[in-house]
Amino acid sequence: MAFEALDDLYREVILDHFKNPRNHAPLSAFDVEQEGYNPLCGDQIKLQLQFENGRVVKIGFMGKGCSISQASASILTEEIQGKSISEIEEEIQFFKSMMQGEANVEDQDVGDLEALSGVRKFPVRIKCALLGWTTLEEALTFYQEKTKGA
Ligand code: ZN
Repeated sequence: MAFEALDDLYREVILDHFKNPRNHAPLSAFDVEQEGYNPLCGDQIKLQLQFENGRVVKIGFMGKGCSISQASASILTEEIQGKSISEIEEEIQFFKSMMQGEANVEDQDVGDLEALSGVRKFPVRIKCALLGWTTLEEALTFYQEKTKGA
C-alpha cells in the first residue's frame, strides 16, 4: 500500500484523524442520514446531519475502512461545522478539484485538508479520500429534496 510513501507531516495528520476521529458518534436526532461505500477498498461511511436555520449544527459520522477514507471523513466533519448548504457545496467542489489536481493548495490555508492532497500521488486511493465527500453531496441532495416541499 502506498500510504507509507506519504510525506511524514501528511501521514501524521491522517493518522491522528484515523485514531481519534472527530464527531465519531451517532446523533440522537438528525435531518438526513446517508451511507457511502467504496467497493474498491471496502470503505464504509455513514453521515448524519442536523440543520438549524440552513446551517449544519451537528454532524455524526460512523464508518470503517482504510485510514485515508476514515481520516478524510473526520476532517470533513470539522470543515463543514456551522456552514450553510451553499458553503458546503463550494467546499465539496474545492475538495474534488484538489483531488483531481486542478486546485492548488500550496498557497491557501486549508488546514488538515492539505494532508489529503498528498493522496493525489496514489490514484487508486483517491476514491478512498473522496468517499466521505461524495456521501456528503448525496446527503445534501436528499435533504434539499426533502425540505423543498415543506
Ligand atoms: Zn480505502
